[in-house]
Formats: sequence, structure tokens, C-alpha cells
Amino acid sequence: MANKNLHTIERICCVCRKLQPVAQMTRVVRVDDKFLVQGQQRLNGRGAHVCAFCVGGPHVLKCLSRSFKTAVPKEILQQISQANAK
Ligand SMILES: [Zn+2]
Repeated sequence: MANKNLHTIERICCVCRKLQPVAQMTRVVRVDDKFLVQGQQRLNGRGAHVCAFCVGGPHVLKCLSRSFKTAVPKEILQQISQANAK
């Protein structure tokens, strides 16, 4: 497959299940037993994407927990809002 840049890659939002351009999404990554919001650098690990429409909504934590098949601490919501405030 040809190289695709970030503006053309699409991922399914774990909340609304719609394909969205990844450049507009927040990626949450599980690294070992920690959950991190991906910033500038690429993080390796299992990830879940939340689109810009859903990221402030009430279902994010539930959907992330479902996606990672484990309880995600609610502190991640704070990390997400901080990441999106930049
Ligand atoms: Zn969404």
C-alpha cells in the first residue's frame, strides 16, 4: 500500500463507530498497565480512537473500557481534555 499521510488515514471512533480522519481524533493508548493520551510522539501499544464530536461526551469512558476490555480510570478524561486544550 502506498504511504498515506495523517490526513487520509481513517479510524473508527470507539464511541460513535463512524470512520473519521485520524488527524481529528484523540488516540488513547494502553502501555503496560497505564493509559495515555497520545500527544506529538507516536506511542506503541493497543490504541483506541475517539473522534472530535464524541470526545467531550458522556460515553467516552464506557467505550474506552469496552474497547480495552478492562476498566479505564476516569483520570483519562482529564488527560483527554488537557490534550485537546493545547
Ligand atoms: Zn465519535
